[in-house]
Amino acid sequence: MNKQIIIDGEVVTYRPGQTLIQAARESGIYIPHLCYQPGYHAIGSCRVCMVKVNGRWASACTTLAAEGQVIDNRTLEVDAHRKQIVQMLFVEGNHYCPYCEKSGECDLQATAYELNMQEDHFQHLYPHRSLDTSHAEVWLDRDRCILCGLCVQASAEQDNKHLFTLGGRGTATQLLVNSSSGQLGETNISAADEAVAVCPVGALMKKQSIYSRRSGERTYDKTPISKLEFKA
Ligand code: SF4
Repeated sequence: MNKQIIIDGEVVTYRPGQTLIQAARESGIYIPHLCYQPGYHAIGSCRVCMVKVNGRWASACTTLAAEGQVIDNRTLEVDAHRKQIVQMLFVEGNHYCPYCEKSGECDLQATAYELNMQEDHFQHLYPHRSLDTSHAEVWLDRDRCILCGLCVQASAEQDNKHLFTLGGRGTATQLLVNSSSGQLGETNISAADEAVAVCPVGALMKKQSIYSRRSGERTYDKTPISKLEFKA
């Protein structure tokens, strides 16, 4: 039997076992997020989907819906908190949207627009991260990696290749490639792999796909990320 929660004053039905973000999506309610993708295990790493549940912070992708929950989602306070998280993601990596090949197709950039992010606010760390162009079809630009772990999951569970893992600690954490040299060129990754398709930013990209759509014709030029999720 369906049960009910309240999100921003709206009654939302859920089935037992659904998380807040799953219940919201089924009702056409957008909860901003980056590391959550339908069909993947939620790991709650990016914290962009944080909401307030009966006044307490919780990640919508890992919190189960339950009777009596009253949730703040797109309030000024919650979106301001999310904007700070997105600003931190920008300064922790090296993201240069104007000439990034993923610009207009990037979930990080689109989420920043959704949250009305006008500037980075925090001091840039400008980390030194390596670029891997050793493979014929796919490149890995760690400057843009937000460590969401989606490619790790996709490569293991959907592509059955186990090509990636996250290694290191704190700000030194990075995406590692499972080959003796640590280079993509030694792996059997393919441009058709789900691990490449699922990357929400321009970190894992098909080499032949860059700048394939002109500015104004790209995915998020036409539709904001909050609306795109609910297109058929
Ligand atoms: S390469 Fe892309 S999918 Fe993989 S962890 Fe980095 S941002 Fe996530």
